[in-house]
Amino acid sequence: MANIKKGDTVEVITGVHKGERGEVKRVDGKDGRVVVHNVNMVKKHQKPMQGGRASRTQVGIIEFEAPINLSNVLLVCPKCSEAVRVGFRLDGSEKVRVCKNCGEDIK
Ligand SMILES: [Zn+2]
Repeated sequence: MANIKKGDTVEVITGVHKGERGEVKRVDGKDGRVVVHNVNMVKKHQKPMQGGRASRTQVGIIEFEAPINLSNVLLVCPKCSEAVRVGFRLDGSEKVRVCKNCGEDIK
């Protein structure tokens, strides 16, 4: 089970985006990376398609979130609002994430 799931709020803890928070849009567990809404934006120039029918793709500069390594983000606890490390406890047979700062369950 991953520490960080889609819909979580995370904080970047290293690099130029340190301190920025955003909602997790996508977790790529295989590569160990997350895409965080409005964090780590990169710009890319998109060339108009040459010839042919009218393109449905956006033309000009597009901006999108580049994936961030999971080790560079921490979950923001919804209870104490701190960027925290996550522990686990067993609730019956279910693993529940626990904030290591305030001890509250994180849904
Ligand atoms: Zn907490």
